[in-house]
Amino acid sequence: MLDRHSQGRSSDRSRLWRIRLRPTRLVLFMVGTCVLGLPIAAQAVVALLLNPLHDHPLDLAVLVATLVVAELLPIRISRAARTDEITISSTFALALAVSAPLGLVVLAQGLPTIIDDLRRGKDPLRPLFNVAQYTLTFAAARVALQLVAGDLPSSPSAFAHRHLLGIVCAGVAFLVVNHGLVGTAIALSTRVPIHQQLLDDIRFELVTSGLLLCLAPLVLVGLAFSPVLVLVVLLPIEAVRRSAMLALEREHDALHDSLTGLANRALLRAHLQAAVTHAERTGGGVVLIMLDLDHFKEINDTLGHSVGDELLIDVARRLHGSVRQDQAFISRLGGDEFAVVAAIDGVGDLQQSAAQLAKRLSWVLQEPTTLAGVRVDIQASMGIALMPEHGVTIDDLLARADVALYAAKEVRGGWSFYEPARDQHTPQRLGLLAELRDGLERGELVLHYQPKCETRSGQVIGMEALVRWQHPVRGLLSPDDFIPIAEQTGLIGPLTLVVLTQAAEQLRRWLDAGLRLHVAVNISVRHLTDLSLPAQVEQILRTHQVPAALMTLEVTESTIMKDPTRAVTVLAMLRTLGVKIAVDDYGTGYSSLAYLKRLAVDELKIDKSFIFGMLAGDDSPVIVRSTIELGHNLGLLVTAEGVENAQTWQELLPLGCDVVQGYHISRPMPGGKTIDWVRAWQPPLHTAAPPHRAAIAEHALPPGTDAPVNHESDLPGAPPC
Ligand code: C2E
Ligand code: CA
Ligand code: CA
Repeated sequence: MLDRHSQGRSSDRSRLWRIRLRPTRLVLFMVGTCVLGLPIAAQAVVALLLNPLHDHPLDLAVLVATLVVAELLPIRISRAARTDEITISSTFALALAVSAPLGLVVLAQGLPTIIDDLRRGKDPLRPLFNVAQYTLTFAAARVALQLVAGDLPSSPSAFAHRHLLGIVCAGVAFLVVNHGLVGTAIALSTRVPIHQQLLDDIRFELVTSGLLLCLAPLVLVGLAFSPVLVLVVLLPIEAVRRSAMLALEREHDALHDSLTGLANRALLRAHLQAAVTHAERTGGGVVLIMLDLDHFKEINDTLGHSVGDELLIDVARRLHGSVRQDQAFISRLGGDEFAVVAAIDGVGDLQQSAAQLAKRLSWVLQEPTTLAGVRVDIQASMGIALMPEHGVTIDDLLARADVALYAAKEVRGGWSFYEPARDQHTPQRLGLLAELRDGLERGELVLHYQPKCETRSGQVIGMEALVRWQHPVRGLLSPDDFIPIAEQTGLIGPLTLVVLTQAAEQLRRWLDAGLRLHVAVNISVRHLTDLSLPAQVEQILRTHQVPAALMTLEVTESTIMKDPTRAVTVLAMLRTLGVKIAVDDYGTGYSSLAYLKRLAVDELKIDKSFIFGMLAGDDSPVIVRSTIELGHNLGLLVTAEGVENAQTWQELLPLGCDVVQGYHISRPMPGGKTIDWVRAWQPPLHTAAPPHRAAIAEHALPPGTDAPVNHESDLPGAPPC
């Protein structure tokens, strides 16, 4: 076992165990330590065997016994992810080192360690290194005492006044040599810069080994009176042990997830940074895998949070057990998201190593689990980013693994490598993504509203909510600048909830002002596969006391086609609530008539590219005409978006298009302007045709409301002005 003689944290030990011994700098360092320390150890043991008799055998026996017991009974702090150990034997080790033959302390310290190492099946170099580093540590302490005091006490109870300063120096030498040798070995094995490792651990070392070493003179003074007095020293030792345990626990808690015991995001970042630094130095590579459970939310929602927790613990256990600790680092980022980091020597087979790791992770999750009596299939999607191929900083790697994860999510249950072609993240966009999180929290997202008018009467029947980001530096940003990033990273979830909430608030304000308009909100693909969306919508409507029928959710046909089975389920749940569903950008995707029939939607919005084309002399008019017919045959309301001029509006009239929307009526405007705008709105003269209300009354307006209400008239079907 490798530890800091006996007082060290075995988190250090276990870290070292994780490293396979290769002919690296670590092995050279360990061999060098052995070459220096083992001959001294051998000589000291031989000298002891040749002259085993000693003056005060009882004193020595007490020290040896306490040292061996303390060494063999480390305090273990168990966590799911790893076990930490504290041993408290250094007080007795130093006392023995300076007052007994060197061979005796080498044997007393070395034998339990060798036995423990061999029992655990460790590489033979480790016990040898440990014996060598103990020997050098003890020898350094003896030399320091001898230099300062002029001699060593002939036995523990012969400790005299003149030895006092010397033993302090011996303690310092003990600490420096032990910390230096073990710290260097750990740094070489974990690929952390040596000075950083030594500095990182020095505080812990000082408050544990430093304090324990300070007690060594007390042990020797106590022995001068009676061996029983040694027991008194056990009390402060117990205090040190407890404070070390608390310190370890606190450190552990700050860096670990309390539910699963896995490393948390902070520790992941530190580990990833160390892996990246090492790869830079050695020309190696790093694999970062982001893993997200599919359908976790439903399990949580249906079976309850404690069952969800149980599943997360099970997944953490499986992931943790799936890879050797020296091969990959597993962490939980929060929710059902986990991350795995592996450092690979040489970048040649990086892709292949990453794929193998992903395969292993998905393999261990394959076995179904039983939760609350229900058999549950665990499925996960994984996004993989590689260093140096996809990025060389930890932020780039994390963002790109995230992008790859969302690409993988679209097919579910698989893994994807990061593909730059699929990434909307230029460096500026990556920066924007980080800011968007804050912007959302700071309430910088605002909605603008674009009116939708009945084609024939020209009356305003509702407005589409279009999100903007009031960026503190860049000004008002259009959704095209940030929605794609939000969609690729999962931030779209909270964003949509903000939009839905603001839209419901606006709806309430319109109703309070006597305007019964409906509001349309755009919904992204992630939501149509999210079974909790209907409940969220219902909650928002209830909170703001607005009728569901006044809300339309716009989904694009490509959104639906990504996962039609789920989309059908979620859309049906939404419709049960009473909200309307519109198929947005119709004509740009591949949805078939059959799907539209199954989908139970209320409205078709013909994509603006076809509306622009109506005056361009291509085949757009034919497409628009047939789409309107198709929509009506299916009983749907048909809206034309992108109406930029009066002529387009007029051409749409004879085609029977129900609703128009576009710059010709108004550009999107801030919510605060909508009420005045509606009150001042004068429908254009060309709309003065008999109102065509049937479809609108049936589809766009809430039950019990036959017509939109504006300042012109509160009566259903009132003629336009
Ligand atoms: P969309 O849903 O197709 O929204 C219509 C877009 O066309 C809006 O752009 C609108 O300003 C623009 N537009 C309206 N009339 C005309 C016209 O006559 N001519 C032209 N050239 N353009 C017109 P905007 O506001 O920039 O939104 C762009 C897209 O961003 C939206 O396309 C929608 O897909 C997305 N989006 C906007 N708000 C949200 C939101 O809250 N959530 C989600 N998921 N997506 C949103
Ligand atoms: Ca839309
Ligand atoms: Ca659209």
